Amino acid sequence: MNFSNLSNTAFIDRKYRYSIYFVVLLVMVYLLLLIFAKRIETSVSFPAVHYNVQELSGYISKNITFEEINVTSEDGDTINGLYAEGRIPNKIVYYFHGNGGSLEYFYSEIAYILSLGYTVIAFDYPGYGKSSGYPYEQKVYTYARDFFAYLQDQKGIREEDTVIWWYSIGTAIAVDFAVQHPVERLILVAPLSSRYDMSRAMVGFPIQKYLWMANSLDSLEKIKNISIPTLIIHGNSDNIVPFEQGKKLFSASPSKNKYFIELDGWGHNYILSSFANELKGVFINFISSWVLGERYVYLDDSEKKHLLQLSLRASFDFDSDDSLTKYVDPQIHFNNLQYVPKNLEYIGSEYVHDTKRNLQLRRDANEMFQRMTEDFYDTFKEKIDVVSAYRSYIYQKWIKDRGCSDDLCAKAGYSEHQTGLAVDLWEASTDQEFLSQPKLQRYYDWLDTRAYLYGFTNTYQKWKEVDGYEIEPWHWRYVGIQLATELHESDQTFAEYYYAQKK
Ligand SMILES: [Zn+2]
Repeated sequence: MNFSNLSNTAFIDRKYRYSIYFVVLLVMVYLLLLIFAKRIETSVSFPAVHYNVQELSGYISKNITFEEINVTSEDGDTINGLYAEGRIPNKIVYYFHGNGGSLEYFYSEIAYILSLGYTVIAFDYPGYGKSSGYPYEQKVYTYARDFFAYLQDQKGIREEDTVIWWYSIGTAIAVDFAVQHPVERLILVAPLSSRYDMSRAMVGFPIQKYLWMANSLDSLEKIKNISIPTLIIHGNSDNIVPFEQGKKLFSASPSKNKYFIELDGWGHNYILSSFANELKGVFINFISSWVLGERYVYLDDSEKKHLLQLSLRASFDFDSDDSLTKYVDPQIHFNNLQYVPKNLEYIGSEYVHDTKRNLQLRRDANEMFQRMTEDFYDTFKEKIDVVSAYRSYIYQKWIKDRGCSDDLCAKAGYSEHQTGLAVDLWEASTDQEFLSQPKLQRYYDWLDTRAYLYGFTNTYQKWKEVDGYEIEPWHWRYVGIQLATELHESDQTFAEYYYAQKK
């Protein structure tokens, strides 16, 4: 009896001991997995906290003029960032840099956005650069809001002028910010959809989910609430944040103006520096166009892809009558000679003196024209005088029938004014007469340096042999910002550009 009792007790003891071992083992496995999951989290969120603590001063030698901004967050941390003013008024890019370094490290991306003309604001995440604190997800969100609120207060920055621009892994910050603030546009470069998705890509399953950890950096859920125009760019050979995640976000976005650019064979890094030229037009058009959609080719249905017409291989539609870049000259006319543009609007306004009181432009052109005239007014405290704008086929015919020469007036069906995109400013009949007036010369010089920012070009500025008509310093044509910028930078007239492309 004793024996059996003894052995029984020993058995229970041993069994009990094994159970403890087993539980301890389970806890250890759980903890190890937790550490593993945490490690994955750190590697895909903000790992740079312990290095790359650099000062912003290096910027000064890199041709960026900026103002260093220090904001104290609610919990007493210092948020360090910058404000760099661009030449285009009322266009602010709120730039969120990648996680592999501080602001200093990403200076070239800031310089790139500035070179497009936009004001840039950006800050370092908690623990990065000169910002204090630790980069917990919620703290990064708070920083983003506090920093912006400070600049709203100090610089008068407005949400409706602001484009959110995010590169890489912490997309959630940009998306979170856009949910809370009615900003104008959203750009996501190589974005991540959620933490779970990131773990699926790294270890084959959402490890956090099986460890009862919540999903985080969850842009996929948040983007469902953002209907502003959205542009996503992703390399299809990205081995850090898989291409599928960019596509997933794109599918989930409810925006009616969403565009996806697939960079073929490209990975995660150096997108802006490697595609600086190719993407320039894309960014300018996406950020500055008033009416999105109209100038883009819709390639595929719903969730597949929209490609920007002006994307990697820029091409302008010079032929369709209603194209913003429709080309006409004494030999080239409208396909439909009696073409009438849609969406004509009256142009008289606070900044525009409509000398005929019935002048009209197409809505796209008018929107940018009004912005330009407001800018003009800021400089000269004068309204711009418009003496002609849209002219119908019938009206052009009437002008010709009254005897206007072919050097100055187009035949009906051949006039840029019929596009609804051209204006004649101030009264003059020859370029000498126009430019001999010092005031008009000053106005011309101003337009010559700034009109392209609003998508306008002076069509007839060389001579008849080049442009088809005599020089007309008063005639300005809207062609969209990308073409206007190309013309301006290459010092070509529309005719020169058109015939060079046709060769
Ligand atoms: Zn004209």
